[in-house]
Amino acid sequence: MHITTEEIFEEFEELDPRDQSQFLLELGYDLPRFPPEEQRECDLIHGCQSQVWLTARAVEDGSDPVIEFRADSDAEIVRGLIAILLASYSGHTASEILRLPINDVFTRLRLKQYISPQRHNGLQGMVDRIREIARRHAPCTAYTEQSPVQVVLRQQSPAQTVASIDPQEIRRQFPVLNQVLEDGLTPVYLDSGASAQKPQVVIDKEREVEEQYFANAYRGRYRFGARIDEELETARQKIATFISAESPQQIAFTSGTTATLNAVAFGWGTHHVGAGDEILITEMEHHANFVPWQQLAIQRQATLRFIPMTDDGQLDISRLDEVLTTKTKLLAVCGMSNVLGTVNPIKELAARAHEVGAVIVVDAAQSVPHQVTNVVADDVDFLIFSGHKLYGPTGVGILYGKADRLNETQPILFGGHMIDRVYKDHSTWAAPPARFEAGTLPIVQAIGLGTAVDWISGLSVEAIHNHEQRLLRSATEQLQQIPGLTIFGPSVDHKGAIISFRIDDVHPEDLAIMLDRRAVLTRHGHHCAMPLHDLLGVSATTRASFAAYNTDDDVTALVSAIEYARDELPRRP
Ligand code: PLP
Repeated sequence: MHITTEEIFEEFEELDPRDQSQFLLELGYDLPRFPPEEQRECDLIHGCQSQVWLTARAVEDGSDPVIEFRADSDAEIVRGLIAILLASYSGHTASEILRLPINDVFTRLRLKQYISPQRHNGLQGMVDRIREIARRHAPCTAYTEQSPVQVVLRQQSPAQTVASIDPQEIRRQFPVLNQVLEDGLTPVYLDSGASAQKPQVVIDKEREVEEQYFANAYRGRYRFGARIDEELETARQKIATFISAESPQQIAFTSGTTATLNAVAFGWGTHHVGAGDEILITEMEHHANFVPWQQLAIQRQATLRFIPMTDDGQLDISRLDEVLTTKTKLLAVCGMSNVLGTVNPIKELAARAHEVGAVIVVDAAQSVPHQVTNVVADDVDFLIFSGHKLYGPTGVGILYGKADRLNETQPILFGGHMIDRVYKDHSTWAAPPARFEAGTLPIVQAIGLGTAVDWISGLSVEAIHNHEQRLLRSATEQLQQIPGLTIFGPSVDHKGAIISFRIDDVHPEDLAIMLDRRAVLTRHGHHCAMPLHDLLGVSATTRASFAAYNTDDDVTALVSAIEYARDELPRRP
């Protein structure tokens, strides 16, 4: 006879937290074990870190039978969880099982404190299997499709809306911006479009992990390993909340935007794009969102097509029907151009793509730091970005996907952690996101990115956006007064915090070097957007990009440094 839930609650309430965790283990010791012949492959539950076997038996015939469950695991702590599940579910009718608010049981037992996030996923797998069995036996009216464990795990952080930010105060939080350089100047950093600087809290967090509890993730149950798992899953949750994803399970840690776009192109595209199909992109894409689709098109004998652009560097949506057809399998587009700053109408593009049965992939590397991102409201299929443009560390990126899209995406990196089961002749894959996280993750960086997201959310993305747009407008108006200077891209109302420009007869590299003499740090070149520069008819531009820490003084420094450079540099004939 199994212990009942009421007995478990009573025991728990009398114990202090350390003893509660011990009690969970003892529940496991007392659970009857499966003999080896009953540890059958077909009864294994997938998604669990340990081996878990579960069998069910309908005790009576009829439309709503009582179901008895038995289960076992090779890990004692999991056996403890199984005991709780059996106490809750076994011996109840199918419709009672489907109606049972299992979250309430987990919350009352404060399970989140005792088990790792990976174990939560395993627990979810067990609950899902039990409910699936119950669903097969229950009358149709008993169905409730809520996914119980995920509801407990999803914690919305309270919305914080700050009307404005104090850029001087923000700047003080960035050590790299507050140093005096060898020539006595302080840096005017205007290359956040390439990589943003990191606030002290992110640097401190990375240091804390390295100094206090670093360990590999999802490997060890010793205290460092458990802490790392918890920190990583917390970061995953923060990032999910930041972009309004439905679940942290839709957030995979990757190494960056480029790697992730390749993972989608060859993990999803290879299996869904065929000969004669079309892939739609734009000429304003960064090579990271251009070359993978070009290569996929070549490999799959598909056609790469481009959304026409207006003269001022926006997508010409009025001509979308010319290129978006039922042949289009995928539309890949940036949220914001890394050269022109153009902000694209992602929600509208997603709706139009879905009308013809295409999926939309958003390269959000530039847009995520500057505007609110809501993957559900925009209804995007995949959304991808890098940590280092979001005030976070390098070496970490994010793949978001709708649950169905992730499930139909094959991994392109194979190895540890991403598998469900490895046999000598074939393997099966873990569920997302683990499927896309082969090998050792960028652990410290991912945790640091969680802190960066906290930092941004603390200020509010809207407030950062408003501040940057004000700087952008001021800089644009002042630069437009400089004779011979051309700004590429649309008006401020249609773009984010990037200005790419040229001065007649001055090479952008020479200009950038002269600006550096005044410690005004800008980028020059084709910015990994050669097709766009071909379209613009120039080989290179100089780019100034703004972030939360830039000030009006930075704009003044940029304008005066450009005037200085223009006067000093010899003009090419
Ligand atoms: N997409 C856009 C729009 C970018 O601006 C960049 C980087 O500049 C990338 C993709 C590539 O990002 P990463 O170098 O982090 O892979």
